[in-house]
Amino acid sequence: MRRAIKAFQFVEWQRPGQLRDVPVPEPGPGEVLVKVGGAGACHSDLHLLEAPAGSTSMTLPFTLGHENAGWVETLGPGATGFAPGDPVVVYGPWGCGLCMNCRQGMENYCQTPGKPSPGGLGGTDGGMAEFLLVPATRYLIPLGDLDPREAAPLTDAGLTSYHAVKRSAHLLGPGSTAVVIGAGGLGQMAIQMLKALNSATTVVAVDASPDKLKIATTMGADEALISGDDAVTRIKDITAGQGAELVLDLVGVHPTLSMAAAVSRVLGHLTIVGLGDAALPVNFHNPAQECSVAAPFWGTIPELIEVISLARAGKIKMLVEHFTLDDAAHAYELLHDGRIQGRAVITPND
Ligand code: NAD
Ligand code: ZN
Ligand code: ZN
Repeated sequence: MRRAIKAFQFVEWQRPGQLRDVPVPEPGPGEVLVKVGGAGACHSDLHLLEAPAGSTSMTLPFTLGHENAGWVETLGPGATGFAPGDPVVVYGPWGCGLCMNCRQGMENYCQTPGKPSPGGLGGTDGGMAEFLLVPATRYLIPLGDLDPREAAPLTDAGLTSYHAVKRSAHLLGPGSTAVVIGAGGLGQMAIQMLKALNSATTVVAVDASPDKLKIATTMGADEALISGDDAVTRIKDITAGQGAELVLDLVGVHPTLSMAAAVSRVLGHLTIVGLGDAALPVNFHNPAQECSVAAPFWGTIPELIEVISLARAGKIKMLVEHFTLDDAAHAYELLHDGRIQGRAVITPND
């Protein structure tokens, strides 16, 4: 019988995750077994755990953790290009690999019906266990001298915010303003991405928590504002009444979406990344005219390679707090209460 390991799993709707025994997965043809160094706890996991029973058709239980990094443990038959012990991050949104979008590295937008779900989301096992089974070597990006325990959040908090910033980079020249609403795990990365990619733009962080705003300032935000009407007034002031070229809403609840619309600019981008369940009314009068509204999902494989390059060059760094697998439930409680400063990372092999 195969050895059993502990895994932190989504077992029941509207219940905290639970530690359970699972067998060590065996890599089949083309697959890779990764020894997990770090698995980040994303707010999306909380949306999922807290959702009404049966909100989606995913099968429970499955192991949480869709932000993963570690070391190659074993290569399945025919899997090449990596050796046991290589430090890697794992690209999360697994697709079919064959459709037009997947072939361009956009597996986040795989077009094939019934495509595999990302590990740690949607029913497939993720990285909150000693080992993670990865379906193909194309999802592994070499980490060089970065520590997997620190690097794991680059695969989602890093990649998602990088994708959201990069698609609007052409708007962010000298004199421009970018507003980041929600300075948590993703927001702190977005602020650093904005500075790394568009150093001329003025970055305004908005959050409900003064503690998060302090951190946002250390990450490079030029202004840090408490969420609400005063923030709208201040953003209008610093943009000569025009509003911001880019507004990223990393929360997605009614007050943040209204604020985002109020500070958007003619010809700007209003980008909704947060999975709060509010809706933004879009018509001729709202948001500003010809402002594009988009809700991007995660990012592409080439973008993850760029994110790792930025981290290896010391241009971005996640503020990480480590938790053992036994403390994973506690990490999610803290995240729920807004008491994780940056990103909680579970380290199953510590
Ligand atoms: P987080 O908990 O680390 O950060 C959320 C931040 O929002 C916190 O700093 C909190 O203080 C702040 N906040 C909460 N309510 C606010 C309000 N009313 N006004 C201003 N600030 C407020 O969460 P995270 O892991 O960074 O995730 C952020 C969101 O992005 C979540 O909804 C998550 O599900 C979503 N997400 C989306 C994608 C995607 O592909 N679109 C990927 C990852 C995460
Ligand atoms: Zn996530
Ligand atoms: Zn595909």
